[in-house]
Amino acid sequence: MRYLSPNSKLVLASHNAGKLREFSTLLAESGITVLSAGELDLPEPEETEDSFAGNAAIKALAAAKASGLPALADDSGFCVSALDGKPGVYSARWGGPSKDMTLAMERVHREMGDNPDHRAFFVAALCLAWPDGETQTVQGECHGTVVWPPRGTQGHGYDPMFVPEGETRTFAEMPESDKNAISHRGRALELFLKRFIEK
Ligand code: IMP
Repeated sequence: MRYLSPNSKLVLASHNAGKLREFSTLLAESGITVLSAGELDLPEPEETEDSFAGNAAIKALAAAKASGLPALADDSGFCVSALDGKPGVYSARWGGPSKDMTLAMERVHREMGDNPDHRAFFVAALCLAWPDGETQTVQGECHGTVVWPPRGTQGHGYDPMFVPEGETRTFAEMPESDKNAISHRGRALELFLKRFIEK
C-alpha cells in the first residue's frame, strides 16, 4: 500500500464536470493539488473490462502513465437483482448513443416485468494508479429498491428510479448533500481519503 502525502499532486482521470467538482472539493480539503485529465489533454481510454474495479484501473493507469503523476479514476453503475446485476458496467451504455437515461430507466423497468424482486444497488470503484503501474482500489455500495414511475428532478442517471434503504425519497428527490452522505460514491470517497492519504 502506498500513500499520497497531503502536498502531492493528483490527476483526476475524469472528463465529467460534475465528478471533477465533487472529487476536487473533497481532495482539496486534504491539501492535495488536483489536476484534471482535460486540463492536461490526456486521452480517454475505452472501458473494456467486465468489472467496475477493472474499468477504473484502465482509466487511472492511462492517466498516471501519460502524466507521470499518481492518478485517480472512478467507475460506477446500477445493478438490479431481478436482472442478474444488469445493467452493471453497461449502465451508461443502456442510454444508447445519445446517453438518454429516460430510455435506460424504461429498459430496466421493461426487462424487470412483473418480477416481485425490486432490490438494486449502486456501485462506485475508485482506483489510485501510480506511474510505475501499481494500482490500489476501494469500492462503495448503496443498496435499496427500484420504484416505478420515476420520481424527482435532481441528480442524474438512474436516480429517479432508486430509493435507498431507510429512505422514502428517491435519490432524485434529495438535495445533493443528502445523497452524497449515503451514496456509493460518497462511501467510496470516504474510504479513499481514510486509506490512501497519509495522516
Ligand atoms: P461511468 O461514468 O462510467 O462511471 O458511468 C456510470 C453510469 O452509471 C452513469 O452513466 C449512470 O447511468 C450510472 N450511475 C452511476 N452513478 C450513479 C448515480 O449516483 N446515480 C444514478 N446513476 C448513476
